Amino acid sequence: MEKTLEEARKRAEELRREIEYHNYRYYVLDAPEITDAQYDRLMRELLAIEKQYPELVVPDSPTQRVGGKPREGFLAVAHRTPMLSLANAFGEEELRDFDRRVRSALPAEKVEYVVELKIDGVAVSLWYENGSFIRGATRGDGEVGEDITPNLKTIPALPLRLTRSVPALEVRGEVYMPKEDFLKLNESREEAGETPFANPRNAAAGSLRQLDPAVTAARKLRIFVYGLGYYEGEEITEHAQSLKWLMELGFPVNQHFRVFAGIDGVINYCQKWQQERFNLPYATDGMVIKVNSLAQQERLGATLKSPRWAVAYKFPAEEAKTVVKDIILRVGRTGVLTPTAILEPVQLAGTTVTRATLHNEDMIKEKDVRIGDTVLVHKAGDVIPEVISVIKEARTGAEKVFTWPRHCPECGSAVVRPAGEAAVRCPNVACPARLREGLIHFVSRSAMDIMGLGPAILGQLLARGLVRDPADLYKLRYEDLVDLERMGPKSAQNLLAAIAKSKDNPLHRLLFALGIRHVGERAAKILAQRFGSMERLSRARPEELVEIPEIGPKIAESVVAFFAEEKNRELIKKLAEAGVNMREEKPAGEEKPFAGKLFVLTGALRRYTRQQAEELIESLGGRVTSSVSKKTDYVVVGEDPGSKYEKALALGVPVLREEEFMGLVRPFVRE
Ligand code: NAD
Repeated sequence: MEKTLEEARKRAEELRREIEYHNYRYYVLDAPEITDAQYDRLMRELLAIEKQYPELVVPDSPTQRVGGKPREGFLAVAHRTPMLSLANAFGEEELRDFDRRVRSALPAEKVEYVVELKIDGVAVSLWYENGSFIRGATRGDGEVGEDITPNLKTIPALPLRLTRSVPALEVRGEVYMPKEDFLKLNESREEAGETPFANPRNAAAGSLRQLDPAVTAARKLRIFVYGLGYYEGEEITEHAQSLKWLMELGFPVNQHFRVFAGIDGVINYCQKWQQERFNLPYATDGMVIKVNSLAQQERLGATLKSPRWAVAYKFPAEEAKTVVKDIILRVGRTGVLTPTAILEPVQLAGTTVTRATLHNEDMIKEKDVRIGDTVLVHKAGDVIPEVISVIKEARTGAEKVFTWPRHCPECGSAVVRPAGEAAVRCPNVACPARLREGLIHFVSRSAMDIMGLGPAILGQLLARGLVRDPADLYKLRYEDLVDLERMGPKSAQNLLAAIAKSKDNPLHRLLFALGIRHVGERAAKILAQRFGSMERLSRARPEELVEIPEIGPKIAESVVAFFAEEKNRELIKKLAEAGVNMREEKPAGEEKPFAGKLFVLTGALRRYTRQQAEELIESLGGRVTSSVSKKTDYVVVGEDPGSKYEKALALGVPVLREEEFMGLVRPFVRE
């Protein structure tokens, strides 16, 4: 029904307030409350009203400006050219509308389009001078972003130095978190009683906009670069050409871009990816279509919010309706009770889904999910099935409210919910469920990697009392295994061999396998390399631990608490007696971290004398020379640096301040 002007004005105001609120949750807090599809519906409603009544458009309407705002605590960076958003196209018809708009602005001209995947991450701007990475920023409100240079430097794929020295270059790209890492991060957040991230984009944004870059480093972010902001020193006439140039300069560019001579090819390509995207290791939320010719781009220009030469084709939201048959609780290895909805099986984003996470107690209450409810489900980041909302109109009255048990469903201990945490926990360290989950983790691929020891076999070993802790695995004999269900002589032998082989794993695998709270794979590696042995780590003092880059107070406290616990010390003793390796080898000759790297030192370092610094670099495989040339890999700059510093800048050689240098060497220095 058409609205009158007055009704439209009122509704537009309501929508603006609502959208502003969601923008704040999404862009500033990285914690949206609604799905992107729900948000897009609000935005489309507002756009439709503003289209019908252009007199209602106000300059600060969310339809007119880029959504974000810089977060406090970061330095502000003014973008040289604005970082805009993209107009959206939903469906084939809107893509054709875009094509018509473009062609009517460029009458009788040939128009080519480049189509790229729209990676679901965070937009960043990267600034290079003379081939060296100088500064990086978020998009912010499009004009001013946040300086996140140290955080960006932790992304391994981001080139700190380009293959060629270009005088000045600003590139734009998307920092993202692969699906697998998003899944793992959310699992560990749930285990730790923290609220999970809504999608990989918020996870990437939340990880990047950290005042402590150590947190960013632990999150395994990646980057794809998709365009130029500003450049000198190269003749470029087409967008596709700029992507190739960026590749040559050493930037990671997504390989799935294609050039099309007309909109039909574009549409086919977009439709092809609609299903195929589920096989990608990263989440995408659409395709981006850009006019290929840079001269045409310039003539088309931009509105305050988005360029007229590009459009984002949004994939239809993958949502499905189904029924919650039951709500069950899973007790994790740290004792956290995670509620899961058991669903009437339903096809969703490429797979049949039978369960969906409900995250925690608060989430069930907020969404008011009851057993028997008809619900809408989607996959967060294309991977985690999740209940979006309840279709309340479908209720019959027979639905059952889920009540949280006061006791652990597995061992009967009274559960607790520590203040400030979203999770309810079973506090019993001997809870069989915790033991089982702990063992599943212990043998998993990134931990001790014992092939052939799945949950079903572990369940039988536990039930028969053959295994009561991870060390018992190393006592298993052929007779214990051979008559288990789904076992036979051959697999029993293979399993024994796999168990024996795992004894030789390096220390970092064992540390991760032990499931020390907050110690993920990366922290385990850093600790193992730094201390070299379990013995040495077990004696580490908290002050010594927090000194290590990337090891914050939470990890330090948890490591100390772990070794203070008598039971844990006994477990480690048992493992050692069983012959499990407790040491980490120093990286071998050619794998030394600075192998083949040339360093120049200038100015006084606070922590080392010149000679100590040189010895340190050499012990890590690097070489120190006295003058800066193009071949120099790093110039380490202390206080009162000399002319070598200027020369480094002039040649575009990466410069490391003392803290940055310490960041590189600390993981390898043993006392
Ligand atoms: P957008 O994400 O729809 O599109 C612009 C962005 O696309 C760019 O900034 C860039 O980061 C990214 N991009 C990825 N691949 C690209 C490529 N190959 N080329 C160019 N750009 C590429 O726009 P936006 O303004 O950042 O965000 C709006 C969207 O964010 C909404 O449509 C909605 O989905 C979501 N949102 C959701 C909520 C919520 O509460 N759920 C709130 C605000 C925004």
